[in-house]
Amino acid sequence: MTDIFDRAQELDELHREAALAAHRRESCGQSYSHCADCGEPIPEKRRQCVPGCTRCIDCQNEHEERSAR
Ligand SMILES: [Zn+2]
Repeated sequence: MTDIFDRAQELDELHREAALAAHRRESCGQSYSHCADCGEPIPEKRRQCVPGCTRCIDCQNEHEERSAR
């Protein structure tokens, strides 16, 4: 009986780790495919250069200008 229990626990841990990994991926910078502000597609290059970017270059500039003031 202990075999089954061990295996269930092992599976449980695997699932937890997978869920945690997915959560980490989401919270630490999955780049958006489209700008959160204007909905324009964000170029692949920018998404790779700026992990976690949520805006296109125009909107990001605008946003930074706004928050700088
Ligand atoms: Zn935009």
